[in-house]
Amino acid sequence: MTYSDNIAKLRPSATVAVSTLAKKLAAAGRDIINLGAGEPDFDTPEWISAAAIQGIRDGRTRYTPAAGLPELRAAAAEYMTAGTAYPADGARVVVSAGAKQSLYNACFCLFGPGDEVLIGSPYWTSYPEMVTLARAEPVPVAGSESRDFLLTPDDLEAAATPRSKGLILSTPSNPTGAVYSREELGAIAEWARERDVTLISDEIYQEIYFGDEGGKAPGALDLDPDSAGHLVVTNGMSKAYAMTGWRVGFSYTTAELASKMSAFQSHVSLNAATPSQIAALEGLTRSEDAARAKARMLEAFRRRRGLVARLFDEFLPGCPYVMPTGAFYLYFRVDGVFDDELTCANDVCARVLEEAGVAIVPGEAFGDARFARMSTASSDEEIEAGVRRMATVLGG
Ligand code: PMP
Ligand code: GLU
Repeated sequence: MTYSDNIAKLRPSATVAVSTLAKKLAAAGRDIINLGAGEPDFDTPEWISAAAIQGIRDGRTRYTPAAGLPELRAAAAEYMTAGTAYPADGARVVVSAGAKQSLYNACFCLFGPGDEVLIGSPYWTSYPEMVTLARAEPVPVAGSESRDFLLTPDDLEAAATPRSKGLILSTPSNPTGAVYSREELGAIAEWARERDVTLISDEIYQEIYFGDEGGKAPGALDLDPDSAGHLVVTNGMSKAYAMTGWRVGFSYTTAELASKMSAFQSHVSLNAATPSQIAALEGLTRSEDAARAKARMLEAFRRRRGLVARLFDEFLPGCPYVMPTGAFYLYFRVDGVFDDELTCANDVCARVLEEAGVAIVPGEAFGDARFARMSTASSDEEIEAGVRRMATVLGG
């Protein structure tokens, strides 16, 4: 069989692959601590699951409109725009099978052959693949390490060409946990508007935020709509609501682009699973229960962030890390142990898995082979044991 050029450069998701391998080794009897997966270790709040079960019992098991249940689109618009100057207009929202599909819809509908898409680096592993699948060219742009890799308009200006059509970034960032301030994001959005570049702001970790002021991390919709230019903002239920397996994500943009993405999705998957949409609607609209559940999870993520930083300071002083302001990862350098045999993060992470039984994701997946990423969405005990075990390979 021969394969299409569409997938000539396609590689499977490294974040998913590490986690799958860890589960396989554990199932085969190996003592593995899986710090690869980027998913909350909490169960979905019971009352959210109950709403979906009730929906199924009530026979709500048929297709929905491609862009999602109208009431869910409206609730997602409300969720994403609350306190902002953007309209809470459900027509601007498309509900998809995870924010992953939302991002892919946006890339496919906005970019094509001849286009370049700037990608804040280190990046979530799927962005370059999505851009490549749209037959456009991904252009990673790294901010300086001293600024936790956050981009400035100067960084972007240096990388842009007349072919630059888009810019993708995540804030809070996967993998670094760095978060743009409203001013920093505003400067980037303004640069993008002047360059006629569409900004895709992936804000799936917006509620996993440790900033002093509390609440959500600043997002692109907090900006002044007149200065921001073309925007697509993605979010979803996976992280803040512990609903990874339900597969519900949202995009918020203009009504025109939303209708194009909806048309695209109508041919690809049609709609996010109907019971999952019912669950998402319950999660977004039972505000007080949701606030309680999210606060409990956030407290755990905050505690683990402090724990992992203390453990690194004590056991892994040779592995400097980015102190995360959001999300649930620690992104740290492993190049201090490079030698003749260990020449990149892939080598180091393979050895950590083999000798210490700890699964972490090599930085190659995020565009920098000097780093690795561990998830802190695991129990305190697993995090502590994982770091201690990693120290046996990565040294003190
Ligand atoms: N963006 C980032 C940065 C992520 O880490 C994830 C997690 N997989 C997603 C998007 C997609 O999330 P989901 O498809 O589960 O909504
Ligand atoms: N977002 C998570 C991660 O980065 C889940 C896996 C994925 O979809 O990439 O690990």
